[in-house]
Amino acid sequence: AAKAAGKSQVCVFHPRMRLEQTGRTQLAEGLRAALNRDELVVHYQPVVSLDTGEVLSVEALLRWESPDGLIMPDRFIPVAEDTGLIVPVGDHVLRRACADARRWYDAHGVGLHVNVSGRQLRQPDAVDRVLSALEDSGLPGRALVLEITETALLAGGQPDDALVVSQLSRLREHGVRVAIDDFGTGYSSLAYLQHLPVDIVKIDGAFTRLSADPGDEARRRRALAAAIVDLCASLDLPAVAEQIETDDEADALRALGCPHGQGYLFGRPVPRDEIDTLLGGAPRPAAVIPTPVGPRT
Ligand code: C2E
Ligand code: MG
Ligand code: MG
Ligand code: MG
Repeated sequence: AAKAAGKSQVCVFHPRMRLEQTGRTQLAEGLRAALNRDELVVHYQPVVSLDTGEVLSVEALLRWESPDGLIMPDRFIPVAEDTGLIVPVGDHVLRRACADARRWYDAHGVGLHVNVSGRQLRQPDAVDRVLSALEDSGLPGRALVLEITETALLAGGQPDDALVVSQLSRLREHGVRVAIDDFGTGYSSLAYLQHLPVDIVKIDGAFTRLSADPGDEARRRRALAAAIVDLCASLDLPAVAEQIETDDEADALRALGCPHGQGYLFGRPVPRDEIDTLLGGAPRPAAVIPTPVGPRT
């Protein structure tokens, strides 16, 4: 190790950079194989009404069950975006999630949120892909919310990125809604509200970790949370506070008038079956409902 460290002084590529590069290449290759091996699994986390606790929708969150263990999206989504694999990966998530969510929507009126990256939305057939996932699953457009982060859009785009705006507008004509994810963490949050067709704002966890702490930093965070909640209300945009972990945080957000919430306090991301259990009484898939016997008329 000492020898390698010494060598790095004169190398053009730092050994660690090369290691990371190899890691990313391997990750990309693994990801491609994972798609075919069905190792990309969608989990779901509830979004609730802060007033009633009722589950309003679920957010699809991708996990990679690799032979070497579970890999989280923060690790492989950036690689998928860089390599373009996000297009087939995103398609897989969309189709899987719409198929799963159909029953939850039919039985309980529970909607579905799916994260999409800017690169996906810039595909010329992005709208057709979404519409075909909806059509094949039977999930109506009004049940679907696409979540987009400001940073995802920044990669190669501007807040007024004409292609993204037109794709989202076409989808909205089919009832699909658009949420800005991780709101407040990007460079031009307010510009996105101005230029993008937006229906829902998800307030980043950075502003929702609210405690009764009298300290200066906590006071600032409360002030920012209050301002964002008010901004959303005055724009008629339902706000979802992300990453709520404690009762105190939920109480504070409720007191600010934030209508919706999400976080470990209400439920972690879980496999599909656990959402069935959580919602209770979800009808079984059609395949196991006994077919009536007797002669056809
Ligand atoms: P996100 O869309 O902002 O999703 C919320 C993240 O916060 C999730 O992390 C979730 O597990 C986590 N979280 C939820 N409640 C709490 C809480 O109370 N405390 C804390 N500390 N964390 C909480 P996850 O599942 O690791 O996903 C990370 C990010 O990866 C997502 O952030 C999203 O940007 C991206 N991602 C996930 N699935 C997909 C996908 O299918 N497509 C794309 N393009 N991106 C995805
Ligand atoms: Mg999200
Ligand atoms: Mg988020
Ligand atoms: Mg995030």
